[in-house]
Amino acid sequence: MALPSHLEDSVWRLRREVAALHAELIRWRLAAWTAGNVSARVPGADLLVIKPSGVAYEDLTPEAMVVTDLAGQLVEGDGRPSSDTFAHAYVYRHLPEVGGVVHTHSVYATAWAARREAIPCVLTMMADEFGGPIPVGPFALIGDDSIGRGLVETLRGSPSPAVLMANHGVFTVGPTAKAAVKAAVLCEEVAKTIHLARQLGQPVPLDPADIARLHERYQTAYGQPEAAGQPAPAGPDAGWAAANLDPSSRPSGPLGLNI
Ligand SMILES: [Zn+2]
Repeated sequence: MALPSHLEDSVWRLRREVAALHAELIRWRLAAWTAGNVSARVPGADLLVIKPSGVAYEDLTPEAMVVTDLAGQLVEGDGRPSSDTFAHAYVYRHLPEVGGVVHTHSVYATAWAARREAIPCVLTMMADEFGGPIPVGPFALIGDDSIGRGLVETLRGSPSPAVLMANHGVFTVGPTAKAAVKAAVLCEEVAKTIHLARQLGQPVPLDPADIARLHERYQTAYGQPEAAGQPAPAGPDAGWAAANLDPSSRPSGPLGLNI
C-alpha cells in the first residue's frame, strides 16, 4: 500500500526523528541488543512510525523504519514491524493526546517492575515529570491487545507518563516521541536514585500538596517562553527544550504529558 502523497513529508521527518531517538535509547543505556522501541504518531493520519523487528541499532536508519496503521498492519517499509507495535497502536487508538510511545527494559526501572512495586514519589524531579508515583500496570503477555489495554487503563488512572508493566519493563508516552524518550530517561534515573536511597534507609515521601504544586509549575512554567524566538540551547537538553517550545507539546488532556 502506498502512502498518500500529502503525508510523504511528515512521514519522512518522523522516520528521521524516530531513527535518531532509537540512538538516544542506546546513548542513555536504556536498551540492550535489539530490545527497546520508539514510535511516533503520524499527525492527521491513523498511522505510526516504528522500528522493524530484530534489527541491530546501528542499522536503524530513517529508511529502515516502518509505517503501520493503528491496527499494527504494515503500510510502508520492508521489515516486519517491532513485535511491540500492537501495544503502541492500541495506545494511539485510545489516547488521542499521545504522539509518541517508548518501550524499554531499562535495568533499574525493570527491577521495580519485577517486584511489581510502584516507584514512590520522593524526589522533586519526580513530582515535576511524573506528578506522583510511577504506577505498575498488570502482567500481560505479548501477542494481542493485553499490554495495550493494561497500559491505557494505568495511564488513565495516573498523571504519570510512565508505567511499569509487571514483570516486564517500562512504557512511556508523550505528546511527541521525543517527550516519551525523555520520560523513559527520567524514569530510569529516578528508579536508580530511589533504589540507592533505599539501600541507606527509608526515603521520605513528599507531601501530596507539594507534589501537586511542583507538577503544576513544571508542566506550565518550565522551559523557555514560547514567543522568545530563540534557538534551543545547545547540550544534551537541547532536544527537550525544543520540544517544550513547540506549541503542540503544551499540556493537553488529563495525562499532563508536557515537558
Ligand atoms: Zn518488552
